[in-house]
Amino acid sequence: NTSQPRLPSFLKTSIPTGKSFTNIKKDLRGLGLHTVCEEARCPNIGDCWGGKEGATPEEGKRAATATIMLMGDTCTRGCRFCSVKTSKTPPPLDPHEPENTAEAISRWGLGYIVLTSVDRDDLADSGAHHFAETIRKIKQKAPQILVEALTGDMAGKMDHVAVVANSGLDVYAHNVETVEALTPFVRDRRATFRQSLKVLQRAKAEGVRVTKTSMMLGVGETEEQVMDALRELRKVDVDVVTFGQYMRPTKRHMKVDRYVEPAEFDRWKQVAEDMGFLYVASGPLVRSSYKAGEYFIENVLR
Ligand code: SF4
Ligand code: SF4
Repeated sequence: NTSQPRLPSFLKTSIPTGKSFTNIKKDLRGLGLHTVCEEARCPNIGDCWGGKEGATPEEGKRAATATIMLMGDTCTRGCRFCSVKTSKTPPPLDPHEPENTAEAISRWGLGYIVLTSVDRDDLADSGAHHFAETIRKIKQKAPQILVEALTGDMAGKMDHVAVVANSGLDVYAHNVETVEALTPFVRDRRATFRQSLKVLQRAKAEGVRVTKTSMMLGVGETEEQVMDALRELRKVDVDVVTFGQYMRPTKRHMKVDRYVEPAEFDRWKQVAEDMGFLYVASGPLVRSSYKAGEYFIENVLR
């Protein structure tokens, strides 16, 4: 497609190395866990699994972040930026998943785990109880592991948001993905910007310490629209925001409008910090869970 802008060099990444990375990868075999990091070939895996420079393997592991996908690989929604497969009737939940996932995560020994899932509009509770049970079991087995839940909008049922928010998690994340004006063109038609704000607001009202959201840039948003989005997010006390470049997964997905320069990402970080966000990660390759462990463990949650 000739109207796509060319991929700039700052979006090309190197193959990860490092002791901590290799150890974590080795541990994973035999645990039966499937990470989004590996399966989506996330370009940040070296940073997230690599731990800190000069750390011992144990320190490296404690500073590492990984993302685990619950409730299967088939989503009931179809967002125009997302490559996850779609069906109205995905297979039923695995009732053993909360126990098995918690067991594997506690044996793995990472410091920070992000649990996420496809959207399950086919389930009466959008999978909220399954999510919450997994978190409770992780905390029973390994209370020192910090857990972030990155959920969908629970079909707008705030009682289900509350179920997850009260499960013992440390961070509640829900992504607005883009500015309000572009939401109907970017996300599944069942998702709205306002509904997503309500999810984040309710999580905070339930007493969650840290709420977090993520936006893609380069979709066609204007500066003023991003400013508006940040203001709305602050109004509902969202603590953390991350910005990354939208990357088109295949030609069937929506086009990239432009590649945002690293300097512009830096500027958004400054703007958002000045507005009072507790923490902002912003860069071409940043994804919502990018190095979350390293930052949260040091600065927010300890
Ligand atoms: Fe895994 Fe998220 Fe880090 Fe990517 S950004 S490596 S998916 S934890
Ligand atoms: Fe992808 Fe989430 Fe949209 Fe499903 S709801 S299509 S997993 S972004």
